[in-house]
Amino acid sequence: MELERHEYDVVVVGAGGAGLRAAIEAHESGARVAVVCKSLLGKAHTVMAEGGIAAAMANLYPEDNWRVHFRDTMRGGTMLNPWRMAQLHAQEAPDRVRELEDWGALFDRTADGLISQRDFGGHRFARLAHVGDRTGLELIRTLQQRTVALGIDVYMECTVTRLLTDDAGITGAFGYWRESGRFIAWEAPSVVLATGGIGKSYKVTSNSWEYTGDGHSLALQAGATLVNMEFVQFHPTGMVWPPSVRGILVTESVRGDGGILKNSAGNRFMFDYIPDFFRKETAESEAEADRWYDDKKNNRRPPELLPRDEVARAINSEVKAGRGTPHGGVFLDIASRRSPEYIRKRLPSMYHQFKELAEVDITSEPMEVGPTCHYVMGGVEVDPDNAAARVPGLFAAGEVAGGMHGSNRLGGNSLSDLLVFGRRAGLAAAEHALKRMGRVELADDALADAGRAALAPFEREGGENPYTVQHDLQQTMHDLVGIIRTAPEMEQALARIAALKERVANLSVEGHRQYNPGWHLALDLPHMLIVSECIARAALERQESRGGHTRDDFPASDAEWAKTNLICTPTGDGGVAVRHQPLPQMPPELAEIFEETA
Ligand SMILES: Cc1cc2nc3c(=O)[nH]c(=O)nc-3n(C[C@H](O)[C@H](O)[C@H](O)COP(=O)(O)OP(=O)(O)OC[C@H]3O[C@@H](n4cnc5c(N)ncnc54)[C@H](O)[C@@H]3O)c2cc1C
Repeated sequence: MELERHEYDVVVVGAGGAGLRAAIEAHESGARVAVVCKSLLGKAHTVMAEGGIAAAMANLYPEDNWRVHFRDTMRGGTMLNPWRMAQLHAQEAPDRVRELEDWGALFDRTADGLISQRDFGGHRFARLAHVGDRTGLELIRTLQQRTVALGIDVYMECTVTRLLTDDAGITGAFGYWRESGRFIAWEAPSVVLATGGIGKSYKVTSNSWEYTGDGHSLALQAGATLVNMEFVQFHPTGMVWPPSVRGILVTESVRGDGGILKNSAGNRFMFDYIPDFFRKETAESEAEADRWYDDKKNNRRPPELLPRDEVARAINSEVKAGRGTPHGGVFLDIASRRSPEYIRKRLPSMYHQFKELAEVDITSEPMEVGPTCHYVMGGVEVDPDNAAARVPGLFAAGEVAGGMHGSNRLGGNSLSDLLVFGRRAGLAAAEHALKRMGRVELADDALADAGRAALAPFEREGGENPYTVQHDLQQTMHDLVGIIRTAPEMEQALARIAALKERVANLSVEGHRQYNPGWHLALDLPHMLIVSECIARAALERQESRGGHTRDDFPASDAEWAKTNLICTPTGDGGVAVRHQPLPQMPPELAEIFEETA
């Protein structure tokens, strides 16, 4: 088998914010580092992030601090978040934003010249550092420039298909160049997974083609565990029309900057969906909600800024009750509330997105929006302090890592998460590699096996087309493991996933190895299936509703379930099992933060 081989201390899989931040830190710690990414450098999901980076910098509200951010994050996650992750995240996010500025990022400013911060759902104070609605672009531009300036090796358009291990842990990774189809292996004692999300398992999603859950699946295959996989975030506002753009994100900044939701009868329906948990801080009348925009300190927040799961469920209910728009969404209106100049300045991407894709002018007309699969709270179970997975030498950061956001992520908390834990993962991965004596060895039989598995779809004749299987999986997850779930539907989903696994084992692809998207999809599909199985199994097991997991047959949250996380472990035969794991006990000095009223 022809194979290109390289040797490094740390291999980072993924070049989004988490991967690049990890690579920079590992390099600065003295390690030889490679970054591998499926698409072009700079084209990760992070670049699509619009709203901003959550960090308690107190630029607009001096009362803001890490304790309030910690509390907001834990409450948003309904207290399932490992407290230590949420604590480190809230404490370190402001430094990570300032560091980006030192490295050349240009954030929007306040009148006093400080970094401007905007409002998002679930955050007590305006705390999202932003660049218009193109924050991710600036974040990636800055990290990418630094990565290149530091001379870190980047392998782009290169997909990792397998992690390699021996009895002592990680030994490297195996993959292929997408353009030529040639194989490549990296020998390294540390691998950082930073592969992002899983949205492509669903039919309607804000995620792009890359998000097939590779890192989640690679980690499981290597013997690591996944946590919280039942919690998938359906962002309340994706585009619903025309069909070709269904699912594309409509940033929460529209609501943060004054946009309101209305049903087909013209009612501002979110007032009917305020849960008791958030009643104290949520406005109960239009007048009170509107006052909040003038004086955010003393007035209660508009109900449109409740956490995403609450808003997505409310929209779902309105549409189901027959009060939806002609294309099955609800109206999001900023035109009647803000001037065209304000909208074009604050939301330039949204203005162009709707103008070009839907022929809607958002400065004069409402948008049609509905829920879209956006983010997975579940991911690789890691040590909060060093991002280490259960396999020695394996680390995970960013969306592929689980736990940090509990049952539901607050907007803006992903970009801060990937900076905080990307840095920590890079540091720990370098330390792990540099303290090792001698080289790791890549076993020839493991490399040959990885190569054979990758080429198998070419060997079979007359098998099924990968696109048909992908379509059926996405439909299954959309219909049976979506926003609202029931036991019989999830059992049906698991049966269909088992059948899809058999069909995947029989896929065949035509043509040659040079840039062959059908072959690429055939290699992604096993990842998508195992991730979907984890979501369905964990969702079936959790018999309550909480955050991004709503059971029609168990509509209430249950105090007993608040004490446990669900962990997916590999069974060794390509399947997964789910076990319960009690939450770590929060120390009293953090528990008392929930009594504070700031
Ligand atoms: C439209 C949109 C808007 C968003 N807005 C915000 C926001 O305003 N604020 C916020 O906090 N969050 C936002 N999010 C969420 C946030 O952008 C993502 O959660 C975050 O960027 C994930 O970063 P990451 O570094 O973990 O992974 P990503 O940026 O997703 O990068 C993953 C990388 O892994 C690579 N990869 C994947 N599989 C493989 C493989 N097998 N081999 C090699 N490489 C691989 C990909 O090529 C890519 O380079 C938004 C998300 C979307 C989709």
